[in-house]
Amino acid sequence: MAGRITGGKRDALLVRDCFRAGGYVFAKKAGDLARENGISRIARLASNENPYPPSPDAIRQGCDALREANRYPDECMEQLLQCLRETYGSYHFVSGVGMDGVIETLIRILVNPGDGVAIATPTFSFYGLAARAQSAEIHPLQRDEDYSVDPGVFINAAADAKISFLCSPNNPTGTVTPPEIIEEILAGIEGILFLDNAYIEFCDTDYLPLMNRHDNLVIGRTMSKAYALAGARVGYAFVPAWIVPFYQRASTPFTLNSASAQAAIGALKDREFMNRYVTHVRTWRERVARECGFPVTPSGANFIMVDVAPWTGDTMVRELAMRGILVRSCASFPGLPDHYIRVSIGDEWENELFLKEIQAIREANSGLSQ
Ligand SMILES: *Cc1c(COP(=O)(O)O)cnc(C)c1O
Repeated sequence: MAGRITGGKRDALLVRDCFRAGGYVFAKKAGDLARENGISRIARLASNENPYPPSPDAIRQGCDALREANRYPDECMEQLLQCLRETYGSYHFVSGVGMDGVIETLIRILVNPGDGVAIATPTFSFYGLAARAQSAEIHPLQRDEDYSVDPGVFINAAADAKISFLCSPNNPTGTVTPPEIIEEILAGIEGILFLDNAYIEFCDTDYLPLMNRHDNLVIGRTMSKAYALAGARVGYAFVPAWIVPFYQRASTPFTLNSASAQAAIGALKDREFMNRYVTHVRTWRERVARECGFPVTPSGANFIMVDVAPWTGDTMVRELAMRGILVRSCASFPGLPDHYIRVSIGDEWENELFLKEIQAIREANSGLSQ
């Protein structure tokens, strides 16, 4: 091969098919559009981030950890696991570079090329990306019209799956699946159920009692949303004990860096900071849903999904971007029609600006397209 590949062709010869197209969709292009329109103060409601900086305790502990960054982070990682046990009880935990890192490692432990992976859709795209990278056979299963999950349909799709993904509260719909349904699914499948709880802090549902009754349940969590540490990349999961040694073999030797691990500990201990943000989200989630003038799917998360018909999601994203507001079109989520946007709950000024501008867009077009 050497010497005979000329520039531009090398990728075609070397890169695996699963990476030749697609990939994760970032919320960047709309930001360029806003800047082109001369808007400097942009409402960032596209990525479900916490609009506020992390807890001061998280910042202090993260910075302090850098003083000892000459050492490998094994002690810091162990301290985080200890902190998780103190926070939630004596469960078994694993950590990763974001929950995304945990998902990738679990798939690597379980999935051989051609093995089944079931995914309840429409949902978060990374499960499919990570499974495809492992040459899995994806079995998508469609949620019902109200985005609830039919346990029979799920169990059927997951019948020969090594691992299945169910997100609750679901991204991008916000839908919360009742624990009874999860329990029915767990009893009906052989493989692992990965229950993605990235947004669990924003709803009232508690799935943890299921951990003690089922040894095929993994509950994924992240420090990126309620705990305001998206940039620190810390995820973790409640796992059955039997997985732990395999996880250690399949992951990179150090799943977290010491600054991130210590920042996470500081954040986990400052419950008050997190609770204040959760209260803010609940109050505004209700108000934005009520006042935006479009149908909204009930949400247990820090975002809402808005049906913007007769606009498409893509058109509405562009309209809002020109007015300095970034939201996410749901057009790239397989299994959803093209007329939805996902809007994060932001700081007060961001939410108010969103309400004002979406109402203005509606009124400017009333009588025309409706
Ligand atoms: C944000 C998000 C995650 C990923 O979180 P990281 O810890 O930042 O990797 C996982 N699942 C869902 C559904 C998310 O929305």
